[in-house]
Amino acid sequence: MTKPLPRSFYARDTKEVAKDLLGKMLVRKLAEGTIKGKIVETEAYYGEEDPASHAFRGRTERAKIMWGIPGTAYVYLIYGMYYLFNIVTEKKGKAGAVLLRALDPQEGIGVMRRIRKIEEPEKHILVSTKKEIHGWWPGKRECTSERMLINPYNGCGIGCFFCYALAFPGHFQTFCQKGIITVAKDFDRVVAKQLDSIDIASCGYLSPVTDPFQPLNEKYHLSEKIIRVFIERNIPIEFITKAFIPQEVIELIKLQTHSFGQVSILSVDDKMRKFLVPGGSSTSILFNNLERLANEGIFAVCRIDPIFPYLTDKPEDLTELIERATGIGAKHIIASVLDIPLRIKEKILKALKNHFGVGIEWNYRKLYQEKIDAYLNARIDYRKKIFDLLGNICEKKNITFALCMEYQLKEGEIVGLNQEFMSSQNCEGINIPIYGRKEEKFYPV
Ligand code: SF4
Repeated sequence: MTKPLPRSFYARDTKEVAKDLLGKMLVRKLAEGTIKGKIVETEAYYGEEDPASHAFRGRTERAKIMWGIPGTAYVYLIYGMYYLFNIVTEKKGKAGAVLLRALDPQEGIGVMRRIRKIEEPEKHILVSTKKEIHGWWPGKRECTSERMLINPYNGCGIGCFFCYALAFPGHFQTFCQKGIITVAKDFDRVVAKQLDSIDIASCGYLSPVTDPFQPLNEKYHLSEKIIRVFIERNIPIEFITKAFIPQEVIELIKLQTHSFGQVSILSVDDKMRKFLVPGGSSTSILFNNLERLANEGIFAVCRIDPIFPYLTDKPEDLTELIERATGIGAKHIIASVLDIPLRIKEKILKALKNHFGVGIEWNYRKLYQEKIDAYLNARIDYRKKIFDLLGNICEKKNITFALCMEYQLKEGEIVGLNQEFMSSQNCEGINIPIYGRKEEKFYPV
């Protein structure tokens, strides 16, 4: 749990406080939910000696607050149109304040947008759907676990340039070509109806090809509603996310023995995370997700999925990532190296080139030589070296390890690499029984 800063933190030299506030969280609790932002830009203002300060003209009615109790928050209106949030600093009686110039939104982005009267988070359409929860798609797959797959959103506002969903057919092409997310209207009710019509259930999986807690979910809350539908029937459910996990979700899934959560953390470096996963949560929030799950006794999985060659594959960074995840209670690591869907190959290479220069594009073209089905894979020797490294780190840290969707071609056959590298019983690290109905609820069979 993070604690509020004490007043003594603010009763110091203003410049020092301004520096030390960077990286701290500004939290506001509202009836519609908590909003939280990381402080990323501040400005220090002194008293009558500082011509840029509104205390420069002395203790006017508007400025006298700056001589007040350190740690007092106040909002100052300038030009009759901009509201500036400040915090009083220095010992009482000496003028000083820090202006918070910029926050990196971490939680409650939908609420922030509404308060600031910013239009809808993403372009989207609501469609009535008869689509059903279903099992794994046909095709190559090493997973030994059965799952009921659920995608309430077709498209994802988190905006990863490498997103596989961009290569998928159907509504995903509406997203790929026009940027419009298709939302399955009242999908929780559709799911509930289906669950009430079956007698045998496997674990639900929210969502295999989009992020369940993407920004649009703050408008529709379909993910929370669907999780509730599962938990009310005592059917296990898992999710994978690169975003903040709403507290309601944690409160719900801790009630169901076999439910669990997977958090994707692609890099310990938040600048890199911002490039790779621009609409996702910051690295610190993602680690905090794992910790919040673990603290409630929920099986927490950390996914380093995918690893980007030459960008996120440094041994020391991967070691740090696994150590941090293990240290806060993650129980299993899943990894993969980026594979490139042929359909969006040029788009991915262009994004890398635009950000890192032509050298990286050239390196990728050289490394990505192995075509398996509709994907280009990094050379097998490169991938095996990475997986060896990860396996060793995990062994040292006493945490199980598996790969996701990693294959090689052997004498013309597609062979899964988990046979060689997985140290857990199955790729998700947790054994979940099939559940059977007894009246209204389900129980392990
Ligand atoms: S979070 Fe997942 S589904 Fe969403 S854009 Fe990124 S890769 Fe795609």
